[in-house]
Amino acid sequence: CGIVGYIGYRETQPILIEGLKKLEYRGYDSAGIAVHTGQKLEVTKTVGRLANLENRLTGEPLYGTVGIGHTRWATHGKPSDVNSHPHTDNSLKFSVVHNGIIENYLELKEELVQAGHRFLSETDTEVISHLVAVEYEGDIVKAVQKAVRKMRGAFALGVLTEHEPDRLVAVRYASPLIIGVGEGEKFIASDIPAILEYTRDIYILEDGEMAVLTRDGVELLTIEGNPIAKNVFHVDWDL
Ligand code: GLU
Repeated sequence: CGIVGYIGYRETQPILIEGLKKLEYRGYDSAGIAVHTGQKLEVTKTVGRLANLENRLTGEPLYGTVGIGHTRWATHGKPSDVNSHPHTDNSLKFSVVHNGIIENYLELKEELVQAGHRFLSETDTEVISHLVAVEYEGDIVKAVQKAVRKMRGAFALGVLTEHEPDRLVAVRYASPLIIGVGEGEKFIASDIPAILEYTRDIYILEDGEMAVLTRDGVELLTIEGNPIAKNVFHVDWDL
């Protein structure tokens, strides 16, 4: 129900948690984050309040400068630890946060199960991480584009792969998503308040658009892969 993401030079965990707190008004039943440690993806997620997640992370923090976070409002699969986002594929090399509903997830899941994939959750979202893994041939942007073309429904996505520690991919289709442009750091979020503390320069994604974030830049394109130009929106109000 709420998404945040960060790529930069600072520790990402506190930025993700603070961002998720600002999205609390959207309502949620569980929360989680995935962080790229530089070597691999690590995920911590839990049912319940953000405080539960924070408690768990206090004991065992995730260290890294790239990450994605999520607060969930369950649509498919009860609120539980395994059904919380981020979701991963069986190799644990791809991690996804999702806001929305994948309408054709049952048929996609059936195909994936027949191909040998094991599903851990009851969510519609988990098909996305498996699909991206299937489509991956060395370029996370192309893999996400191919995966998204198979999906019907509503989705705002944040996607990370262990293979590419310096890129964060975001997609918007019928669920809100914005991109924050900072100096040496970039953000994604479901809504502006989540990142207003860090930057006032925003790209507002429209349906069918995606963004590829690195520490130094944002590439905007359509899901089909065509580059697009967009003006930065400067936020001049305060919370
Ligand atoms: N449909 C997904 C789920 O139930 C995402 C829900 C959301 O937007 O939080 O896990």
